[in-house]
Amino acid sequence: MVQLLFILIIVILIADFGLERYLAFLNIKESGKELPALLRDIYDPEKYAKQQDYFRTNSRFGMLTSSFSFVITLIMFAFGGFAWVDGLVQQYVQNPIWTPILFFGILFIANDILGIPFDWYDTFIIEERFGFNKVTRKLFILDKLKGYAMTIILGGGILFLIIWIYTLTPTYFWLLAWAVVTGFSLFMTMFYSQIIVPLFNKQTPLGEGELRTEIEKFATKTGFNLDNIFVIDDSKRSTKANAYFSGLGAKKRIVLYDTLMDKMTNDEIVAVLAHEVGHYKHKHTLINFMISLPATLLLFFVFGLILKSDSLAQALGGNVASFHLNALAFSILYSPISLVLDIFTNVLSRKFEYQADAFAAKHGYAPQLESGLKKLTATSLGNLMPHPLYVFFHYSHPTLYQRIKRLAY
Ligand SMILES: [Zn+2]
Repeated sequence: MVQLLFILIIVILIADFGLERYLAFLNIKESGKELPALLRDIYDPEKYAKQQDYFRTNSRFGMLTSSFSFVITLIMFAFGGFAWVDGLVQQYVQNPIWTPILFFGILFIANDILGIPFDWYDTFIIEERFGFNKVTRKLFILDKLKGYAMTIILGGGILFLIIWIYTLTPTYFWLLAWAVVTGFSLFMTMFYSQIIVPLFNKQTPLGEGELRTEIEKFATKTGFNLDNIFVIDDSKRSTKANAYFSGLGAKKRIVLYDTLMDKMTNDEIVAVLAHEVGHYKHKHTLINFMISLPATLLLFFVFGLILKSDSLAQALGGNVASFHLNALAFSILYSPISLVLDIFTNVLSRKFEYQADAFAAKHGYAPQLESGLKKLTATSLGNLMPHPLYVFFHYSHPTLYQRIKRLAY
């Protein structure tokens, strides 16, 4: 049994890496194809050459980072690396709650430190070379430190609660842990913009002026309150522009990147905003949250079943069942199921994007949304020709081509 579980874990790791590399390969091959007529006005030949360079540079870099992390993960699983870390922790702390927390803490820190050179290279070499980067060295370090503090407080806190519940009642663990995680995720969905975002960015209400007047006209028509529209100072990190809708009920808000303002006309910004209001009108945040409920329940139910298995811990080189070793083995064994759930989530998300586009079109913004989306893609050197299979697995939005075709007015 132990042998079988061990082989299964290794096979899943290799299959997952193989699938990712295959999809990336298809995507690179596809990118060389000739553009359909609808997309030819987005880049001039010189800019398109730059886009291809950016895409290939990122693909090569992705190949490097994923191979590096795959090799390290494989070594850790194949040679009992996790049992070794467990033994190390047990020498100092032997407590049903603090041993797992320390174990995961060490893995998190080790993993993060290994990732820093790659993050640094991506920000200061690649993004810099293509003119996107605005992050200073100071901001990079500050973001890292704030990220750590957040992980320790939020991640550590939720982990503590989950393990504590397990020590109280292994039988009803799955149900209680699910309830706690659900409550936490509901809280985060509502207050993300008010608690997390301000740690990293400033959000200001939409200022007076022509844009506000334009938006007001649209907002009154659709009943979306202007007080829920904010501008975020993302220009301190990147020149890339975006907008998003977040929150539920009274906590809903639409956030526009300040980089949007100098790249787009007012009409185009209103069109993008109309798309975001579409997400709100169709209750997409609420539906996503409701769908996550049974998915997390399934996860905790299966997790609860295997937490007592000695074989799982032994497959990782341990002796007896322990919360952290079993959780780690579970995370790999469960990954084929989460792959399927992710595909489902992405299929649904792409459907939602079409609905939001249709909402903007219904209010007469189809041409402005089309030109706005084209500009967003062009200014971020977006890939115009992703492979359909890559899109199927990974894209939360339809491709630009699909969206424009659907918008046809
Ligand atoms: Zn959207």
